Amino acid sequence: MSKNNQEFYKLRCIKCGKIFKEEDTTSNCLFCGNPLDVKYDYDYIKSRLNFYALKNAPISAAKYLSLYPINDLSKLVSLDEGGTPLRKSKKIAKKLGLNNLYFKDETLNPTGGFKDRGTMVEITKALELGAKAVVVASAGNMAASVAAYAAQAEIPAYVLVPEGTPIGKLAQILAYGARLIQVRGTYSECAKLAEEIAKKHNFYLAGDYVFRGEGQKSQGFEIVEQLFWRSPDYLIAPIGCGTNIAAIYKGIKEMYKLGFINRLPKVIGVQPEGANVVVEAFKKKSRKMKAIEKPNTVSSAVAVSYPLDGLKVLSDIYESKGMAVEVTDEETLIAEKEMAKEESIYVEPASALPLAGLEKLVKKNKIKKDDVVVCIATASGLKDPVTMLRILPSPPSIEPKMDEVDKFLKMKLYNIQGTVEKDKVKVLWKKNPGRKQLLQTVKKQLNINIDKDYLNILYEEVDKFFMKGKKMAKSDLQHIVEDILKMVPDSKKIIKIEDFQVNTSKNKKAQAEVIISIKGRKTSTGNAKGVGPVDAIMNAVKKIVVKENLMKYWLTDYDVKIDQSGTDATVEVSMELKDGKDNKAIGTATSPDVIVASIEAFERGYNVLYNK
Ligand SMILES: *Cc1c(COP(=O)(O)O)cnc(C)c1O
Ligand SMILES: [Zn+2]
Repeated sequence: MSKNNQEFYKLRCIKCGKIFKEEDTTSNCLFCGNPLDVKYDYDYIKSRLNFYALKNAPISAAKYLSLYPINDLSKLVSLDEGGTPLRKSKKIAKKLGLNNLYFKDETLNPTGGFKDRGTMVEITKALELGAKAVVVASAGNMAASVAAYAAQAEIPAYVLVPEGTPIGKLAQILAYGARLIQVRGTYSECAKLAEEIAKKHNFYLAGDYVFRGEGQKSQGFEIVEQLFWRSPDYLIAPIGCGTNIAAIYKGIKEMYKLGFINRLPKVIGVQPEGANVVVEAFKKKSRKMKAIEKPNTVSSAVAVSYPLDGLKVLSDIYESKGMAVEVTDEETLIAEKEMAKEESIYVEPASALPLAGLEKLVKKNKIKKDDVVVCIATASGLKDPVTMLRILPSPPSIEPKMDEVDKFLKMKLYNIQGTVEKDKVKVLWKKNPGRKQLLQTVKKQLNINIDKDYLNILYEEVDKFFMKGKKMAKSDLQHIVEDILKMVPDSKKIIKIEDFQVNTSKNKKAQAEVIISIKGRKTSTGNAKGVGPVDAIMNAVKKIVVKENLMKYWLTDYDVKIDQSGTDATVEVSMELKDGKDNKAIGTATSPDVIVASIEAFERGYNVLYNK
């Protein structure tokens, strides 16, 4: 029997100090509304610890069970979380001139992030307290984690996330079987709603509350252990609600209280400029936080209006003589790419905040070269690939032939670089600069050597772009080059869309006329209606294909992305076509005009498919 009735911990409000029973609240102080903390009887814990076993058993979250507020081990819900690597940086460390830089790789947890450590304790407590269901508000990762553990505990999980949560996280939440609601609001609005739902329906309220942090402490235990029972000099983590960074620091402090280490790290919290509540308070040397109404950042995991555990973090930062640092989204995305490329640690944007913050501090000479620095790599990049793709190039497509591979190598297409924000708005030209200048600019800006065939196509495409009366930014050039690198050279073109016209009005179907030239020999015209302009044009094209007895096709996917650069928007369209033999081809095109981008994407896709 593992039931243990001794009360070796208490829940205490961090502000007013009132003590609560866990049967009465596991979220906030019922008196002043502030966060609670678990206060332990460390003498009792010490008496239960087997120091020899603790020091010699392999790392894992479960090995520290005596340091969690769990009474009934038969209720434990664990997915083998924790025990993640502490990776010593080679290349980034060298670049920054640091000798002891580490990344705690939390991407390797069961659902891809550190939240699992907290969820293990939280869902175990929910079962101990007799919960029949849990409800959680989340920016995505916590929900995915709670969903996974609730599935094992066999209780329903109700999940609230802000609309627009990254698709990888939504897929996870749904796959684990949670009951997911998207809310048109911020994470903080979701949290308020979850609290009300918990009260009204008597569900267990999961979230950034007292038990979650207790589980997340194990990152601190493991870091100390992996540094061979030493404390780092700096602990650097992102701040969303602040629960995690406070939990890691608490874990390291417990190692200190139990006598494993003899000093403590300085705590550095990093926030994006668009969600910087703690940083603002830190700048004023204050403990008062001012909520921001609409967080705005690519780091969706920390897009928080008011950090629930901000008070804990501020107190940790002041106590440890640490810092709170803010960085731009651009710095974050560059750091994200760098972690993948230099250290092979692929994280989501929020997880790159520590490195982006560290780079700033190193520039300001705030870190000494031998300081032991640990950055928390909080969650996997697989959860939000879409954001990373914003600064990565789109790879070329080729036919399965060796000479196409040779061309790829000769033109050094692997060198093409993505575009970051400040480059996106950089205007290159207001009119077509001519072939020579095009070639030079592509070489200089995109780092590749396109050959004559592609240069000719590029020249034409750039012409078409300017016909719409828009200036060309670097990102526009990049997209156009990427598009033509997916094309089949001109000679094999079966159809070319020569011109089109389309009439639309609010209450009538759109009416289109399209003129297509076939094999450069004859032209054919088609007319059709459609629910919208693109649909009408596609219907007219289909009519020509049928009339002229050309290869049949099916449109299997159609995707439109708007790339907002400055005041002008460029549209990127991708179309997937299928023929009768299940061959597939994707055509992509970039234009200021969505209709033009669509027909060009179609034309390219069709010509590739025809050549199959
Ligand atoms: C939750 C989360 C954070 C922020 O943690 P808090 O405890 O809310 O401060 C940072 N990064 C990722 C990937 C997260 O999922
Ligand atoms: Zn209180």
